[in-house]
Amino acid sequence: MKYIYDYLIVGSGLFASVFAREAMDKGYSVLVLEKRAHIGGNIYTENIEGINVHKYGAHIFHTSDKEIWDYVNKYSEFNNYVNSPVAVFENELYNLPFNMNTFSKMWGIKTPDEAKKIIDDQIKDLGIDEPRNLEEQALKLVGRDVYHKLIEGYTEKQWGRKCRDLPSFIIKRLPLRFTYDNNYFNDKYQGIPVGGYTQIIEKLLSGSKILLNTDYFEYIKNHKRNWRKIVFTGMIDQFFDYSLGALEYRSVRFENSVIGCENVQGNAVVNYTSSKVPYTRIIEHKHFEFGKQPKSVISYEYPSEWKPGEEPYYPINDQKNSELYLKYEKLAQEVPDVIFGGRLGNYKYYDMDKVIRSSLDSVKREIR
Ligand code: FAD
Ligand code: UDP
Repeated sequence: MKYIYDYLIVGSGLFASVFAREAMDKGYSVLVLEKRAHIGGNIYTENIEGINVHKYGAHIFHTSDKEIWDYVNKYSEFNNYVNSPVAVFENELYNLPFNMNTFSKMWGIKTPDEAKKIIDDQIKDLGIDEPRNLEEQALKLVGRDVYHKLIEGYTEKQWGRKCRDLPSFIIKRLPLRFTYDNNYFNDKYQGIPVGGYTQIIEKLLSGSKILLNTDYFEYIKNHKRNWRKIVFTGMIDQFFDYSLGALEYRSVRFENSVIGCENVQGNAVVNYTSSKVPYTRIIEHKHFEFGKQPKSVISYEYPSEWKPGEEPYYPINDQKNSELYLKYEKLAQEVPDVIFGGRLGNYKYYDMDKVIRSSLDSVKREIR
């Protein structure tokens, strides 16, 4: 049978766009369907008042994978931004990630030994050997004070679940250091693309046919199959019509404001860790690119449980959802002409570098 396109690519985020680029470079034709009004998925940036605004949440590129760093640098220059968020708890302010600056401010101490002793004293009667959940993991790593002031409230707002009902790997994303070092990541390479992320996606997709405002599920109702294979980066449970049940996702509402002042909060990322504050963090976008514009754009992030019609930003990789996902993964093996990828297609809490790696691996398996 003759097809017009080798690949129908559903979505235009990072997984889809890397796949499209690699396939096109090897001579294959692609058709991209994107249900939003723009390309880029969640890394989309939009210029407002001369500032590249991260419309779907702050995105800092970081990786230890040299090949991936070289790959993204082919498509954009990166600046030397280093993410160093601060956390506000009631009227106190602390450095993140958890490091000697945090501990020194919390306890009025100076040395790593003093910090370790306080943490040990705070957890010795809890008897946590093998942490079974995020609460136990966090207590074991940083003790009661840091857990109560900087983790518990933030995490329960972010995930809408008790810390003891969440998997411990979520908190292991953050470095814990007994040095005075506020770098939020341990990775070797880090930065923000000069000029924003959208231009990277434009370059990756150049040469492809893109249909915006086009939902795959609507499209296939009215179009006969014109493609050899599908690359699907939407929700895997939706692809199978929720036949095994619905996976859960966390959504976020972003409230953006333009402020007539050059510098609102003095940092790109300020976390609000108290459960009494309804948002988790405020992003001031200009600081990602050291902007000096006369105005500033800030975004408040309000997490919520995902409902149909909203954007599913985060998979919830707890036990219940992970087990359900494995069943969908089995179902996916029964449709070999569909490649599932990305955060929603693989139901995984991937960072950008991991999505690119996974897409490149997938192309390698697919096109030899
Ligand atoms: P997406 O970007 O979600 O792309 C999927 C695309 O498919 C979307 O454009 C969607 O509209 C489209 N789509 C879905 N269903 C359909 C359909 N039925 N028909 C047509 N189109 C469809 N990573 C980092 O490395 N550093 C960070 O600092 C960082 N910060 C983050 C902050 C937030 C708030 C979030 C949510 C994520 C963050 N990430 C970060 C992760 C990063 O966003 C992802 O790794 C990456 O964007 C995932 O790309 P993707 O292609 O898998 O998915
Ligand atoms: N976290 C926290 N307090 C903070 C920041 C993060 O407890 O001030 C926890 C929270 O559980 C969060 C996890 O660490 O979900 C991972 O944080 P990260 O900043 O990596 O989250 P993301 O950028 O993916 O939203």
